[in-house]
Amino acid sequence: MDTTLCAVLKAREVLQDVTPLNADCGRFCGAACCAGDDETGMLLFPGEAPLYRDCAFGRVIPANFSLGGKPARLFVCGGSCARSERPLACRIFPLLVSPQPQGASLRMDPRSAGVCPLYGSGLSGLAPGFRDAAGRAAEILAEEPECRRFLQDLSRQLEL
Ligand code: SF4
Ligand code: SF4
Repeated sequence: MDTTLCAVLKAREVLQDVTPLNADCGRFCGAACCAGDDETGMLLFPGEAPLYRDCAFGRVIPANFSLGGKPARLFVCGGSCARSERPLACRIFPLLVSPQPQGASLRMDPRSAGVCPLYGSGLSGLAPGFRDAAGRAAEILAEEPECRRFLQDLSRQLEL
């Protein structure tokens, strides 16, 4: 397995059992972040797309932009999934990882602003266990060169 996929799978594993709140936050919003349509989806991290080649609950579509010098891909689902197989972006939402000269920082993902009721409370409104796990996942991703480039580019594009 290449080092990029290995880092992404490690980050996914770290975030496997945590959720943004200790309660089921989807009850407050009707699971708004899972309610995409045929054209919107969750951004796949480098190396993730082939994992969904024969997926029963969703499919991969091309995005109309590139990240880290490579065409980006989105995962479009029907609003339910096998939790252990959900993409990394679903596990990190509503946070965004921003690589720093040393390690990485977390902030609320601006794409969650119009979707997620937790956006307004910021980082301090999220469950400590979720924040800690997201911080560990961020460090893993920032150490891997392709994931780092992908996240740097994503942070830059979201600031435009
Ligand atoms: S939109 Fe926010 S509050 Fe709603 S399910 Fe997703 S993460 Fe939880
Ligand atoms: S893959 Fe699962 S967690 Fe991700 S958007 Fe679809 S239903 Fe929600």
